[in-house]
Amino acid sequence: MTTSFKSAMERLKGSIRDVPDFPKKGIIFKDITPILTDGQLFRLAVTIFSERYQRKSVEKIVAIDARGFIFGGALAHYLGIGLAVVRKKGKLPYNSHEMEYELEYGKGVLEMHVDAVEKHQRVVIIDDLLATGGTAEAAARLVEKCGGEIVELAFLVELNFLKGRERLAKYPVFSAISY
Ligand code: AMP
Repeated sequence: MTTSFKSAMERLKGSIRDVPDFPKKGIIFKDITPILTDGQLFRLAVTIFSERYQRKSVEKIVAIDARGFIFGGALAHYLGIGLAVVRKKGKLPYNSHEMEYELEYGKGVLEMHVDAVEKHQRVVIIDDLLATGGTAEAAARLVEKCGGEIVELAFLVELNFLKGRERLAKYPVFSAISY
């Protein structure tokens, strides 16, 4: 690892802001918006993903609502491949597959259009952050419902202590920054 790359990675990590008690008491929210508002850091974040996937014959990016759309959109644009969106229930206009997932209290439902991913298409699923892995697992199941093949699940940030990687044990998982 070159010194300049190491210091850029430190700057990337250092710019993530902890917001205590958001959206609920006891949660420390990792706010990645300072990365987005800095052009160099935003480019670095997207470059980490684009360098990783540019020679892996990826055919589609599946991005998770909502901050996954930001990195997923930029990555799909760079790779010149399509983007599919996984959204919270009720937001998508066309026929959709749906998948329940666990929230901290209760359950939620994620949806993806039935034709968003083709059979055997090689997919990378992307989100800003991996916590317990429930959201990403539901997204992976939606891709599988369409018959897609999951190359990897990619996150900018991983919260190791929540063991999302264990929950996603059947899939390859990549994260750029971990806590
Ligand atoms: P999980 O399903 O528990 O892995 O939660 C991941 C999803 O919730 C991602 O879409 C994250 O953006 C969001 N999320 C969960 N916990 C946090 C956190 N501490 N800081 C920021 N985003 C979070």
